[in-house]
Formats: sequence, C-alpha cells, structure tokens
Amino acid sequence: MTTATATQLTHWIAGGPDDRPAERYGDVTESATGRLVARVPFATADDVDRAVQAAVRAQREWGAASLTKRTQVMFAFRERLNNAKQELAEIVTREHGKVLSDAMGEITRGQEVVEFACGLAHLLKGENTPSVSGGVDSHSMRTPVGVAAGITPFNFPMMVPLWMIPIAIACGNSFILKPSEQDPSASLVIARLLKEAGLPDGVFSVVHGDKEAVDAILTHPQIDAVSFVGSTPVAKYIYETGTASGKRVQALGGAKNHAIVLPDADLDLAADGLVSAAYGSAGQRCMAVSVAVTVGDVAEPLLGKIEERIAKLKVGPGTDPASEMGPLVSKAHYEKVSGLVDAGVEEGAKLRVDGRGLSVEGHEDGYFLGPCVFDEVKPGMRVYDEEIFGPVLVVVRAGSYPEAVELVNENPYGNGAAIFTCDGGAARRFEQEVTAGMVGVNVPIPVPMAYHSFGGWKSSLFGDLHVHGPDGVRFYTRGKVVTTRWPDPSHAGVNLGFPTQT
Ligand code: NAD
Repeated sequence: MTTATATQLTHWIAGGPDDRPAERYGDVTESATGRLVARVPFATADDVDRAVQAAVRAQREWGAASLTKRTQVMFAFRERLNNAKQELAEIVTREHGKVLSDAMGEITRGQEVVEFACGLAHLLKGENTPSVSGGVDSHSMRTPVGVAAGITPFNFPMMVPLWMIPIAIACGNSFILKPSEQDPSASLVIARLLKEAGLPDGVFSVVHGDKEAVDAILTHPQIDAVSFVGSTPVAKYIYETGTASGKRVQALGGAKNHAIVLPDADLDLAADGLVSAAYGSAGQRCMAVSVAVTVGDVAEPLLGKIEERIAKLKVGPGTDPASEMGPLVSKAHYEKVSGLVDAGVEEGAKLRVDGRGLSVEGHEDGYFLGPCVFDEVKPGMRVYDEEIFGPVLVVVRAGSYPEAVELVNENPYGNGAAIFTCDGGAARRFEQEVTAGMVGVNVPIPVPMAYHSFGGWKSSLFGDLHVHGPDGVRFYTRGKVVTTRWPDPSHAGVNLGFPTQT
C-alpha cells in the first residue's frame, strides 16, 4: 500500500482544526485503487469532552441569536456548499468509490435540507390561545434541545450528515458530528464552509473515531440528543445506551428493501428501476432494492430484461465519466459481500449473473465486484435474510399478490418498499398494507424530499421521529407552553383547587 501522499486529518473543535497527536489512527483508502489516502485520528473521551465544552459555551449565545441571524448563516452556507460541490464530490468518490455523478447527487439531496432549514422560521412558529381563562392567555414555543450529536455511516458521507446538521443548527443547537472513519474527509469541508458562512466557533465540531468516541458521546452528560444512521445492531445499541443516559435518540438502521413486480407491470420500467436501484452506488444505499418479488409468471421475462441491462453496465473507477458503477468501499466490505455470494451458491440459490472475479484494468487492487443476480431465493438463505449492502439482487418468486406482500411484511426490516404495477387498485392496497416507512409505486427508490421526513419502520428505525422535514424540527426542539396573567384587581385570591377555566 502506497503511503507517501496520505493526508493527516484532524478533529475540528472550537472553530478550527484540532491537531493534537492522537493515541490511535485509522487508515482511509481510495476504493478504486486500494491506495492509502489519509490517516484519521480516533478521538478519546477527552477529545469528545473538549468538543462538548466548546459546544455548550457556544450554544448559550447561538440558541439566543435571532432566527434571522441563524437562517442567514444557512443561506450563506447553501451558497458555499453549492460552489464547493465539485471539490466535495471528488473527495466522496475517492474515499467511498461511488461515481462522480452519484456523489454530486448525494450532495444535492443534502443541499435540499439546507434549503429547507433556510425557511425554518415558518416551522418554529408557536401557537397562541388568548383567554384560556378569565384574563389568562396561553402560548406555545419550540426551543433548542441544547447540544446534539450525529453519528453517521460510510455510504453517504455528505447527505446523511446534512440530514441532521442544518436543522439542528438552525433550531439553535450546537452539533457535534462523528462521521464514518472510512470516508471522513468531507466532514471537514462541511466544517470549513459553515465557518466561512459565519457560524460562531464551537457551534459545529467534528470528532473522528470508532466505538470509543461513540461511547463517549452516548454517555456524556452534557449531550442532549443523538441522531444515528448505520447498521441495525449498532442502531439498537445506540438507542438503548443513549436513552439509558437520558438523551433523546433517533437511530436509523439497516434495510432489505423489496420491490414487488405484478404481472401487469410495465416490465421495461420495472427492469430499468430494479437495475438502477440495485446497482447504483454498488448497492451501498439504505434505499437500494435488494429483493425483487415476482408474482405469477413474470420472473422469466423480467429476468431477461434485467440481464440485458446488466450486460451493458460499465463498472469502473468513479472518476471515469463512462463508469456507471464504482467499487465497494473497502477490502473488508468486498470480502463480506463476495463471501455472501459464495454462501448463496452453496445454499442452492441460482446465480444467474456472477460478478465475482471482475478485474478493472489499471485498478487491479480496487474493491470491484460486478453486478450479481440470484434467482429462486427463499427465506432462510443468508442472501435473503442478511443485508448484503453490495451489488447483489435476489429474486424471490411468489404465487400471488397476498403471498408477496406477506413476505415483505414478515421481513424484520421496514425501510423502503416498492410495487410495479399498472393497476391503481393494487397500488392503493399495497400503500396501505405494507409495513415500511417509505413506499414507491413504480418508483424503486422512494426517498422523501427534504420537506417530508425520512425513516423506516421495524428494525430500520429505533425511536419515534424520522429525520429531516417536520420530524427533524421536532427532534431538535423541545416544546414549551406558557400561561400568562397580568395583574388585575379581579383575581380571585388563594385557591388550592386544581386549576380549571373560568
Ligand atoms: P455501521 O453501523 O458500521 O457504522 C455507522 C457508524 O457507527 C459509524 O460512524 C461507525 O464508526 C459507528 N460504529 C460502528 N460500529 C460501532 C459500534 N460497535 N459501536 C459504536 N459505534 C459504532 O454502518 P456503516 O457500515 O458505516 O453503514 C452502512 C449501514 O448503514 C447499512 O446497514 C445501511 O443500511 C445503513 N444505513 C441506513 C440508512 C437509513 O436511513 N436507515 C441510511 C444509510 C445507511
């Protein structure tokens, strides 16, 4: 592994780089070549505490700053983010591996949350009820929670942090980000752009690291709220540990998104949708479709169309504009995904397209795995039961719509689910019956816009509120109701009875 040009990353605490030497570092590699590109410091509890102390100090003034000032910072941040897109996309492509256009897409989706936060004044309006009793008025308001932290996954190093940061900060909180240690560099550009946009020092910090840093966040008494996005076992741990420490927690977990294809579906639309949703970002999306459930005799014609499309897909480095699918994020993840493909073959699933053994010229040390398709998959096989998070589509054949929807609903995950059909009645029934948080009708990846909230059901989300949109505003604020009476000679004197209205 070449180390000559590796960048030394730092935490970002109290408004600037924090370059104290760390006790432990992690390696960040370029996924398309396997080359070491950066070393990332792993925070200790002391490092986390320094970020928290800066956050607590800064939040007192920031939480009291006018809404105009807070949203002005968001407007300025939006412009800087827009101008830095190319720089950011190149960083994401280098460390994550996704193709540049896909990296641009995730930045745009994150930017939409910044745009939503620019209009936050509308959502922070309270309610007012005059004369709830004689001479007594009542009004409600939303106030900042205090110090919030975000712990984010490798697969969207820009979009997922931006699901959280703009809303938390515009609501008047300080925010500490613990990005994935696998592709951490983009988080430092976010920190720089927020500072340039006029955000006071300490309101936003970045601490890098692994479980040690996460545990320090989960148990720190001055952190009030934790947002997490990542795999289900870690999400469950974050929810249980954070709430046991008295914090409000939203923890979004893994997924196994199913798409049902009914016999009356437009099969070209379905095949285009399934191939795009299964192999975009090499399947490393929480909204990737990883299971196609075919109903009746639709499997053969659909698989034929899927195979035709896969044969034309260009797999290569994300920096090549001709590439449609890049590598997996790391060697360890490559080994996990190809190991699951081996397991599928051993368990008797029919591997119709085999992407193993792919070598990309000039990038022989990159973590490339070609698209794979399994047919005749059944629950109980590892390729069905486990989240693969790679370019692997499995096909399960169902005899009828009720059998198909039962399969989807029995799955422990409930992030997204889709149906392909031209029958409005079937689509409507699916919308209502399916136990998933985000539902697509002839749309394979139904990711909500920034002004709706994003989140799944069952093992795909622990907590009550989804991220961004109106739920994000609720998560990062506490409600307060004020009851007022101004001195009036008519007040009734001492009354130990329970207050009722007069
Ligand atoms: P991960 O769970 O391994 O890591 C997520 C974060 O948790 C990282 O910051 C990591 O440093 C930290 N972490 C990892 N192990 C930990 C531990 N034992 N204790 C404490 N912290 C720990 O997830 P990942 O591999 O980075 O991301 C992929 C996963 O994220 C997939 O399961 C995917 O479905 C999920 N995901 C879900 C959504 C969603 O919206 N539901 C969105 C994106 C990704």
